[in-house]
Amino acid sequence: MSTQILDNALGGVGHTPLIRLDKIAQANGLRCNLLGKVEFMSAGGSVKDRIAKAMVEAAERDGKLIPGKSVVIEPTSGNTGIGLAMACAIKGYSVIITLPNKMSLEKEALLRALGAEVVRTPTEASWDSPDSHIGVANRLQREIPHGIILDQYRNVNNPLAHEFTTGPEIIEAVTSTPSTTSKPSSEKVDVIIAGAGTGGTITGLSRAIKKKHNPDCIVVAIDPKGSILAQPESLNGVVDDGQYVVEGIGYDFIPDVLDRSDVNTWIKTVDDESFSAVQQLMKTEGLLVGGSSGSALAGALRWLKTEEGQVVANTPGKNVVVLLADGIRNYMSKSWFLKIAMEQEPSPLAATITQLLSRK
Ligand code: PMP
Repeated sequence: MSTQILDNALGGVGHTPLIRLDKIAQANGLRCNLLGKVEFMSAGGSVKDRIAKAMVEAAERDGKLIPGKSVVIEPTSGNTGIGLAMACAIKGYSVIITLPNKMSLEKEALLRALGAEVVRTPTEASWDSPDSHIGVANRLQREIPHGIILDQYRNVNNPLAHEFTTGPEIIEAVTSTPSTTSKPSSEKVDVIIAGAGTGGTITGLSRAIKKKHNPDCIVVAIDPKGSILAQPESLNGVVDDGQYVVEGIGYDFIPDVLDRSDVNTWIKTVDDESFSAVQQLMKTEGLLVGGSSGSALAGALRWLKTEEGQVVANTPGKNVVVLLADGIRNYMSKSWFLKIAMEQEPSPLAATITQLLSRK
């Protein structure tokens, strides 16, 4: 993060830290380095700030946005919307966000506080239905003068933002931290793991790392059960109602910006393991991460137990980077969070407190 005065909040997008997850590594018997790229520390609170900034700036360069006139409309699971609403608040464009019902109240409230209009859409509407978040955004764009959809599902600036910022930041952190006897390092990104929604993050990271840094890097993408992004197809199984609670990853169509040839392996995750991984990240590493970060960690730990993963897991100095996409403050009202926060096993300290306070 810069120590100089920034022109506005967009200067605080990205530049996030790479943090050792040593306790989790130890608890899982890993000898490799387990590292978290902590994206909730970006100005808008998620990895998607980066693409929002990149898409708005590219549209401005192309003369597609007119301050005071343009209405930016975007279907999103919330975080791209927050990044866009932030950029547009600063730059003077109106914003409409279409958001499936399952997405948290915190995201809607934040969007509204940033000045965006929010239209909720049925979660169960398939992507090509006129009622889905994508369908409603298209309908609004056709009717609203100066309405423009920057379209994170197709916009090349989505993967490019990660190829030009997220990836190089990870590479820089890993190459500029020297190997020592107590903290051995290959000084390379050996494995990168991230959840896939639009797929922009995993595609851009893969390109940045494989093209310019380590062509042998193993790229692992995480897809929730109920989504159809994973390959081979058989991994997706029978998708009954396709419902899962975790937000921001998984889809019922393959977005154009997801290049599955950039991914080496897919891991499918379920809600429960994602939420217990969030709890583990909070309680043992003090990291205030959101649900999809739990999916990424749970998937990472599962991959490290596969035959290929075991080789990495048992090699000191191998760097395994897990992308932690957003923060828990997006989800504080969700029942899964309240459960992990409020329904913990009573601790010995709690018993002591009760005993002390009951003394007359
Ligand atoms: N996690 C969260 C919380 C997200 O909001 C998103 C974006 N939909 C992702 C992961 C996945 O990122 P991407 O769209 O780049 O695949």
